[in-house]
Amino acid sequence: MAFPPQFLEEIRTRLACSEVIGKRVRLIRRGREHVGLCPFHNEKTPSFTVNDDKGFFHCFGCGAHGDVIGFVMRSDNLSFPETVERLAGEAGMPMPVLSHAEREQAVREQTLHEVVEAACVWFELQLRAPGGRAGLDYLRRRGLDDDTIARFRLGFAPDQRGALKAEMLGKGFKEALLVEAGLLSRPDDGRESFDFFRGRAIYPIMDRRGRPIAFGGRVIGDGEPKYLNSRDTPLFDKGRSLYAHHMARLSVRDGTQVVVAEGYMDVIALHAAGFRGGDLVHNSFSWADRHRRGARARETVSGYCLGG
Ligand SMILES: [Zn+2]
Repeated sequence: MAFPPQFLEEIRTRLACSEVIGKRVRLIRRGREHVGLCPFHNEKTPSFTVNDDKGFFHCFGCGAHGDVIGFVMRSDNLSFPETVERLAGEAGMPMPVLSHAEREQAVREQTLHEVVEAACVWFELQLRAPGGRAGLDYLRRRGLDDDTIARFRLGFAPDQRGALKAEMLGKGFKEALLVEAGLLSRPDDGRESFDFFRGRAIYPIMDRRGRPIAFGGRVIGDGEPKYLNSRDTPLFDKGRSLYAHHMARLSVRDGTQVVVAEGYMDVIALHAAGFRGGDLVHNSFSWADRHRRGARARETVSGYCLGG
């Protein structure tokens, strides 16, 4: 279930962090903050702090970090919707009733997820088809084995204007949806839409739940641009997405540090080498913003590997 952002904001405003966390951890007031023993790692001296003004908790021992919703999800082991429902109850707020437009938006996003997933599967199949030889050779030359290729769901887009389009229309997806998902380009002058990715090795970009939402494409041969990303869509916001973030997130729960790299290959190489915290910045100009966002998601960025 999707929640309107204002609703979540209202929960965060109404419930002081220290009040909610104080029911679960013994906190002592120290200046503007509260401190206590971190519930997420073993410690004898308190390095867990709660700041009501900033609306977050932070542990200097293990790097655990987040807002009140993040805390309860983790400490009570609840899903996001379950946590929101519990905290709304604590705040005395009735659960929101979604408007018709919000419900429609949720359904549309679901369909977008389906078409991007179908495209992802098709790209993967093309890599193993005779026409995908050049793509497979490229990835192998870069040192990737089959296991890594499969784990990252790497694929290939043939150098044809309508191959993916024909396949997806054949599956019953509407052309307008393919355009909205960023899979087709539709020229302004009314000419026919065509495949956005052509003649490229394909790197699917996943959301936090590991679902493909967009793609990056590395040209095979000399074409320009060398790297091409899906444009922004209702599922994909280039400024807010991190490549392989779903994998890095899982590892971070086990305490792995996150390294942010700038290229798809850098991230994959990190993971293939056994390092599980690799993340990719899509646009290095705003990575400070993403760092903050990463921090909100209780993560510690231990290094950046840019320019690769
Ligand atoms: Zn801790």
